Amino acid sequence: MSTTFPKKPQSSAKVAPVPRPTHDLREKAYLPEILAGVGVSMKHFFMNTRDMIKGQRPDPVLERLDDGVTAISYPEQKRPYPERFRGVHRLTLREDQSPRCVACLCCSTACPAQCIFIEAGEYPEGDKRRGYEKYPVKFVIDELRCIFCGYCVEACPCDAIRMDTGMHAVPYDSRDQFIYEKDLLMSFESIDGTRETANPRHEPGDPTHPGLDREHAHH
Ligand code: SF4
Ligand code: SF4
Repeated sequence: MSTTFPKKPQSSAKVAPVPRPTHDLREKAYLPEILAGVGVSMKHFFMNTRDMIKGQRPDPVLERLDDGVTAISYPEQKRPYPERFRGVHRLTLREDQSPRCVACLCCSTACPAQCIFIEAGEYPEGDKRRGYEKYPVKFVIDELRCIFCGYCVEACPCDAIRMDTGMHAVPYDSRDQFIYEKDLLMSFESIDGTRETANPRHEPGDPTHPGLDREHAHH
C-alpha cells in the first residue's frame, strides 16, 4: 500500500534584493584603509607596552573599555570571575582523609552529559562503615565532556562533590588528560584552601549517628 502526502504549499513571499554596498574612491584604493587599521593596532600596542613597562596596566576589561582596549595578557592578567563561578570538581574528604562519597550514583544519574563513572565497593570486614555505606573504588569524571551544569553537586546527598576549586580545566593537548580520576579529584582544594567541608558527617558507631546501630540491625 502506498501512502501519499499532501504537497508542500508554495510560499508566496517575495524576496527583496539586498543592495550592494557602495565604496568611495578611498575605500576602493585599499591602501588608506589598511594603513588606518594598522594605525589603530599600533596605537593599542604602544599604549599597552607603555602601561606594561610602567607597571600601570589595570584590568583591561574593567578599566579600559573607554579606550577600546580589551586584550588581556593571560595568564599574568585574568578576568575577575563571578562569585558563583564553577571550577573543576573536587571530592571532599572526611576527617580521616577518606572520601565522603558513598558511591550512591546520584550524581552520575543526574549528570546530563553522562560523564561521571563510579564503581562502588564494600568497606572491608571489620570496618565500622561496612553495611552502612559503600565507597567509590573508582570515581572518574570526563572534564571535557562535562558541561559544568552543577547538577552533580546538587544531587549529592553527602556534600561529597563540589565545584568550588576556582580552577579551569588546564588546556591539555590530549583527550586522556581530561579524564580526572578519584585520587586527583580528592587532591584538589576548595578556593578557600580546605579539602574537607564544614558540613557534619555522622559516622556509624558515633553517638551522633542517626541510623540503626548494629545491635538493633541484627534483631
Ligand atoms: S557539572 Fe553537570 S555535566 Fe559536569 S559532571 Fe556535573 S552533572 Fe555532569
Ligand atoms: S559524589 Fe555524592 S552523589 Fe555522587 S556517588 Fe558520591 S555520594 Fe553519591
